[in-house]
Amino acid sequence: MEHLQGALRTYPWGSRTLLAQLRGTEVPSEAPEAELWFGAHSAAPSLVGEQGLDAVIAADPVGTLGERVADQYGSQLPFLLKLLAAAEPLSIQAHPSRSQAKAGFSREEAAGISLDDPTRNYKDPNPKPELIVALTPFEALAGFRPLEQTREFFAALDCEELDRYASLLDATSEEAGLRAVFTTFISLPEDPRTSLIAAIVPAAQRVAKNAAAGESATLAEMFLRVHDKYPNDVGVLAALLLNYVQMRPGEALYLAAGQLHAYLAGLGVEIMANSDNVLRGGLTSKHVDVPELVKVLDFSSLEDPFAVTSEQDNVVSFHLPVQDFIMSAHRVDADHPMHVDTDGPAIILCTEGQVCAGDFVLTPGQAAWIPASDPAVTFDVAEGFTTAQCFYARV
Ligand SMILES: [Zn+2]
Repeated sequence: MEHLQGALRTYPWGSRTLLAQLRGTEVPSEAPEAELWFGAHSAAPSLVGEQGLDAVIAADPVGTLGERVADQYGSQLPFLLKLLAAAEPLSIQAHPSRSQAKAGFSREEAAGISLDDPTRNYKDPNPKPELIVALTPFEALAGFRPLEQTREFFAALDCEELDRYASLLDATSEEAGLRAVFTTFISLPEDPRTSLIAAIVPAAQRVAKNAAAGESATLAEMFLRVHDKYPNDVGVLAALLLNYVQMRPGEALYLAAGQLHAYLAGLGVEIMANSDNVLRGGLTSKHVDVPELVKVLDFSSLEDPFAVTSEQDNVVSFHLPVQDFIMSAHRVDADHPMHVDTDGPAIILCTEGQVCAGDFVLTPGQAAWIPASDPAVTFDVAEGFTTAQCFYARV
């Protein structure tokens, strides 16, 4: 077992306070601190001592990953664990399924589009399911809102210009309706898009101020905030159709392939398959490929974006239809030490309090790399602390 030093990513949407507060470094931080990566992704591998985790694994795939995982994934760690701290919205995006990623990757390889070409969509042949667990209140847009709720919201907005598009929702099925409205919104040229948004803004301001408007007031307020950060962006229109989720600490979202989503604000622990396949649909200055996004999107509405969890003996397990990772959240105290015992690789991330295994200590924001060849480890809450929280990622 060794300390795994996270790789800090300073994307402009990052927070200058959330990660710094968690890690006990200077607040506000000099640069926005968006993500801290714990994994072996070649774009920013974490360090074991002086060495990148990708190199550590490549030097001894079976010793580090174990036979079971090395057989299936070669010398690749199949997951990437992150702390994510958003002060501003991230791009609206979706990720491909395994078959879409495979097909897209070979198509772009065959077309000779270089991996660092900004128009390249598929960087690898892998799907990218992701789970995010809130550490602070956390806001996100996740999956298409059930149509009944969107109709209610549009009725509250009572905006003639919007109603022209809303009539597209009355298609033969919910899925066909959402597909029609979304693809129309995202394909609008700049002028009609700007005038449509200009017409919705005063309607949203009126609804946001109306306490009796309930959920519609909340949605209107969210719409105005997104517009404020990304004026007239196509993502502002997409926000009209998506579930707006306000998570409390401990709650989690699971995003399967094809679910349109955007994180808006907050600190969380995120785990995903080791893939970089992102199809964007707005709220970004990066490459947006509309036809490709529409191809992978799941247009059925998402009734409940929350991840299925169960809790036993201070351990919350996340039940995910994913083969590339397993994650659990552990509340460690005197009666509940944390046992790490797997035939594959494991990463332990401390997010609160302190834990120790003998002389080995983890403080918030610190992680341990436990290769498959290591014996089982038990972490106890450290002296001076009554409780600690850790996340346990494995395959
Ligand atoms: Zn995503």
